[in-house]
Amino acid sequence: MQFLEFAQICEHLEGISGRLEMIEEVAAVLPRLDDEDLPVFVRFIMGRVFPDWSSKTLGVGPNLLYDAVAYVVGTKRETVREAINATGDAGLAVEHLLAKKEQTSFFIQELDLVEVYREFERMAATGGQRSQREKLRVAQGLFGNARPLEGRYLARLMLEELRIGMGEGNVRDAVAKAFEVDVRLVEHAHQAMNDLGEVAVLARRKPAELSRVTIEPFRPVKMMLAQAGTIAGQLADHGEVAVEYKFDGSRFQFHKVGDVSRIYSRRLEEVTDSLPDIAKHLMAATDHDVILDGEAVAVRDGRPMPFQFVIRRFRRKHGVDSMMEKIELVPRVFDILYLDGEALMDRPLAERRKILEETLGADVAEQFRVTDAAAAEAIYTEALGLGHEGVMVKALDSPYTPGVRGRLWVKVKPGVETLDLAVVGAEWGEGRRAKMFGSFLLAVQDQGRLLPVGKVATGITDEVLAELYTLFKDSVIARSGKEVTLEPEVVFEVGYSEIQTSPNYASGYALRFPRFVRVREDKSVDEVESLDTLAGRYRQQKNGQGSLSD
Ligand code: AMP
Repeated sequence: MQFLEFAQICEHLEGISGRLEMIEEVAAVLPRLDDEDLPVFVRFIMGRVFPDWSSKTLGVGPNLLYDAVAYVVGTKRETVREAINATGDAGLAVEHLLAKKEQTSFFIQELDLVEVYREFERMAATGGQRSQREKLRVAQGLFGNARPLEGRYLARLMLEELRIGMGEGNVRDAVAKAFEVDVRLVEHAHQAMNDLGEVAVLARRKPAELSRVTIEPFRPVKMMLAQAGTIAGQLADHGEVAVEYKFDGSRFQFHKVGDVSRIYSRRLEEVTDSLPDIAKHLMAATDHDVILDGEAVAVRDGRPMPFQFVIRRFRRKHGVDSMMEKIELVPRVFDILYLDGEALMDRPLAERRKILEETLGADVAEQFRVTDAAAAEAIYTEALGLGHEGVMVKALDSPYTPGVRGRLWVKVKPGVETLDLAVVGAEWGEGRRAKMFGSFLLAVQDQGRLLPVGKVATGITDEVLAELYTLFKDSVIARSGKEVTLEPEVVFEVGYSEIQTSPNYASGYALRFPRFVRVREDKSVDEVESLDTLAGRYRQQKNGQGSLSD
């Protein structure tokens, strides 16, 4: 497929708002793609470049994009930046700039979809000191051959935000429709393979194998997630439940085959080199080939330390040894997904737990089976006394469902309710905060789009504001008066007292008394709260079920 055709399809989809119609359109395209184009198309249409399991990243920031476009259209970086600020959309701005240039140039080489992907791979592969220069060269080459419309989507793909509203769910449905296979099989294969691109090829070539696809070592799957809920609610739904401490650390997935082990973060980045102590613990705890799910916890004198200490270690690339002396990380393993060639994700939690205890000689997180509320409340109180965040209450018959934030796992913690939201904009501060951003615009996600739900300015110390400024200053994609639009890359955890309906924000809701809690460095923007969850919380609140531990 020519990249131009891909761009035209994107443009067409951008004009459609109905979910079913979008699925229909994409489903009509998929069967005519060959086996090389198909996986690339499937990822690109979701605004992703590499398979979800892959640790590869393009590493293209707005500045590199400005420079590449400036070079191609023969102007200054500032002019590109201003053009992007004026439209508020990097894609449209690049399109306009290329349109002006097109009138003066005669020769361009047609861009092919797979070729664009290969160029992206080259970008991702460059590392070290010269990497920015090399990435720039590749980007210049791509924009140099791009027609204006292609430029729109090249720019957006490089920033990994396509803005056409084709989320994972829609693409999964389109694959099922295109190749006439059961959507549940597509979902099953997707959970195990963690790449809808490859699943699409399988759905066409060997649909019978979709049900047999299983998790494999060194190909991380998304983590199973939890909803906020209550002990009473879980007991009412399931009778008997498993209660575990909710550790305030960072999630990891540990893969081991023989002597080789790798560790992945919640965002599925490989963090093996940052966490030698976790690997050492787990290598010593079992001789089996395994995939384990757990939380890395920082301890000092036997007591858990706050999350901030853990995340520092996850990000650390240099000086790991000296950091280790200060902060010891220990694994608390609560699940097993694979043992010696056998996938365990479809087995009930109770069975997986038994296998976990038999397989791992140490580091297994405690679990309590409970049938009555008083016993569960006692564990909850004990958890808080021990310095944990609260408890997780899990259904014993639940399979492991990667990436799903369902009610099979419920988190119960005290205090204000919080939401994890994407930061999509900011406003310059006033007075002594004039050289920094003073407030931040937050958004929930809804089928691939980010919809604002309010601003947060409270709860941020001057020191943190300065850090946040450093974090965001290169992510500005548009300015208008005191407000800036930010490339959505960062997730804030924000507390609030109430959710209200509101005509002021595109989500239709607003937060009352929003308060900054922390940057969720372990979460990516596609993991932020959805509009559905927000609406659910709003309804719950209206029904008077606001308290978490009742
Ligand atoms: P949250 O990040 O607030 O959505 O809470 C879910 C997170 O709690 C998981 O992603 C884990 O990182 C963490 N967690 C801590 N202890 C457990 C546990 N026993 N079981 C599952 N997740 C846990």
